Amino acid sequence: MQTIVFEGQDRIVLQEKPIPSLDDGDVLIQVDLCGVCASDIAAINGEVTDYSPPVVLGHEIAGVIVESRHPEVRVDQKVTVNPLISCGACDYCRVDLDKYCSQIEGIGHDIDGGYADFLKFPKYGIDTGKLIVVPDSVSSENLMFLEPLGCCINAMRETILNESVAILGAGQIGLMFSQLATLRGLEVFLLEPDVYRRDFAHSLGVDRVFGITDNEVKELIEITGGGLDTVISATTNNQEAIDLAFQIVRRGGCINFFGLSAHDQDLTVNLEKLHFFGHKLMASWAFSRWSLSQARQMIVDQGIQLGPMLTTRFPIASGIEAISHVRHGGGIKTALVGGLALEN
Ligand SMILES: [Zn+2]
Ligand SMILES: [Zn+2]
Repeated sequence: MQTIVFEGQDRIVLQEKPIPSLDDGDVLIQVDLCGVCASDIAAINGEVTDYSPPVVLGHEIAGVIVESRHPEVRVDQKVTVNPLISCGACDYCRVDLDKYCSQIEGIGHDIDGGYADFLKFPKYGIDTGKLIVVPDSVSSENLMFLEPLGCCINAMRETILNESVAILGAGQIGLMFSQLATLRGLEVFLLEPDVYRRDFAHSLGVDRVFGITDNEVKELIEITGGGLDTVISATTNNQEAIDLAFQIVRRGGCINFFGLSAHDQDLTVNLEKLHFFGHKLMASWAFSRWSLSQARQMIVDQGIQLGPMLTTRFPIASGIEAISHVRHGGGIKTALVGGLALEN
């Protein structure tokens, strides 16, 4: 089978590998679609350090079980994965904070993932509830968004929300946040410098989409009577995004630096200002089992628009091109197409 292997900073290769063989209790997933995630790009760029190369990338997987050596999993089941495999027993795992488990192993980070025709999902992942089975009626185009949607649902639960919220960035994450916040009955403002992405947001029914020119930001602050109750950064937390967040949040408001942040970047805050303005600063990372189960239900119920965000597909053989497409900001969401879809 073909795979895309991350070997280290700026080193990704197309590699032929044997289809993984299973031990007792493992299952084999045939990958239908696997989303290319911004975190994979950040790893390739050398901006984040939570990957263990060499590894087959890919953690946003939609696929089908084609071989099962686990008594509770049967062939032909439609599945995705909770890509954070953990011990299942420590203090963190017991309270659904698996992401902080010291024995964490990420699919597509530390264990070979879904930029491949097939992937092996290990027994201990199944036994700790990390294989997510969905009804056959769920399309892969929707299913591949389950993990990123779970991240957004987790962040929505953690964020201090009041009436108005600004989302920075109209990529897939910003578009999911916008929809979730609208469903929650919040007054939502989406900020995005790129015209294509602003138009795309409109096409998904997001009403209040702003650019980030000085005039537009001024207008936003006026409309909201002095700033937003909450700002969620759904973009890379570069200095421009950080400054914008502080510019538009109201006194007492909350900023969630959800977006990726580079390992060499610091947040500098004037403590006196922070004290008197009372800003609530936070970050939300990844998902919980709870948020993934909420995401699963939402996808089964078709309660959110996801599939239309999949704008670009590449076969695994063109995975390097797919990565460069995403690196250059092409489309909204890009996926690699595994063996199953090519055979059909
Ligand atoms: Zn992801
Ligand atoms: Zn644990």
